[in-house]
Amino acid sequence: MLTTRSTAAEFIRLEDQYGANNYHPLDVVVQRAEGVWVWDVDGNKYLDFLAAYSAVNQGHAHPRIAGALKAQAERVTLTSRAFRNDQLGLFYEEVHELTGYARMLPMNTGAEAVETAIKAARKWGYKIKGVPDCKAEIRVFTGNFHGRTTTIVGFSDDDQYKDGFGPFTPGFTLLPYGDLEAVRRAMNPNVVGILVEPIQGESGIIIPPQGFMTGLADLCREHRSLLITDEIQSGLGRTGKMFAFEHDGVRPDIVIIGKALAGGFYPVSAILADDEVMGVFNPGDHGSTFGGNPLGCAVAREALRVLVDENMIENSAHLGEYFMGKLRTLSSTKIQEIRGRGLWIGLQLTPQAGGARKYCEALQLKGLLCKETHVDTIRFAPPLCITREELDWAFERVEQVFKETD
Ligand SMILES: *Cc1c(COP(=O)(O)O)cnc(C)c1O
Repeated sequence: MLTTRSTAAEFIRLEDQYGANNYHPLDVVVQRAEGVWVWDVDGNKYLDFLAAYSAVNQGHAHPRIAGALKAQAERVTLTSRAFRNDQLGLFYEEVHELTGYARMLPMNTGAEAVETAIKAARKWGYKIKGVPDCKAEIRVFTGNFHGRTTTIVGFSDDDQYKDGFGPFTPGFTLLPYGDLEAVRRAMNPNVVGILVEPIQGESGIIIPPQGFMTGLADLCREHRSLLITDEIQSGLGRTGKMFAFEHDGVRPDIVIIGKALAGGFYPVSAILADDEVMGVFNPGDHGSTFGGNPLGCAVAREALRVLVDENMIENSAHLGEYFMGKLRTLSSTKIQEIRGRGLWIGLQLTPQAGGARKYCEALQLKGLLCKETHVDTIRFAPPLCITREELDWAFERVEQVFKETD
């Protein structure tokens, strides 16, 4: 049994009293973490089955990444892009070698990288494709999650994300996710890009129908538009491949990455593209004080090496399949659907289950930290360094919770 939350209560009170009320976290106050495990302020130990929304794919406090952070922090952390630094070029080269994309543009948070992709696509539309000024259109999808800036929430179809934040940026059209015919009908010469998550994470690990991504790639080629994939959550091993789009055999024109890019140590995001698209940027067009800083670059370089050296992507593929197989043996009347790829699994509950939140709270009491996404889906996304034994341990807890609630 876990102990009572005497110390935790005070930290929770402070958060509630002095912060903005823009999150509804589980009441676990984490004090330290290592690999797949986290400890709260009362010494209780939990298995992290969310991995900070896939930002800690490499596991918490990975010693190699911590070492890179410490070493670089003692050398130089920030130069701004007014000067060059000895990490940025190496970071570019290594990402190029890893992904095959000719160039990258680094930012910090995911939302900034999405904004960067939007700017790149629009500018490409005007400068290269020849779209009339201010007429560029971008197609986006129902159920999307691309971040929280005013432009990005403006094309969300989640009312709460938008409520009270308008007016919004024009030039985006929502289309039904997975409906290729709808996209075909919505193409026109002013469409500069289609922005899509190869698998929708926040929406509940929604995998589009077979052929959707290849169909989008074909439409983009036909209409000379850019295929822009948001791999901020799905990328860097989460689905058992480096990028989720690899499952579909497509090659997007712009790839957006973030989250696990720096192993959860530091916010590093980027867009990847080839010369034609990246070539639209000139000095002064776009930038960020912290984007491409030496500390972030050093950390990201090591985080990517760890992902590859420690076979975390293969581990995600194999153990994801293993865990999915175990989940499919659950016989609960409360489970509607189990879907996923790699170690990224959504367990959707029936409407009668009364929401996923209480299941996450029950799992928390058993030492497993998950988070509901939307109302009725539990997302399982542990760090990719997890072992089979640890998954067995987690499965026992999941099984118990469904036994107790059935
Ligand atoms: C998390 C996420 C973002 C936003 O990233 P932030 O770092 O929170 O700005 C964008 N797109 C997807 C798919 C994400 O999962």
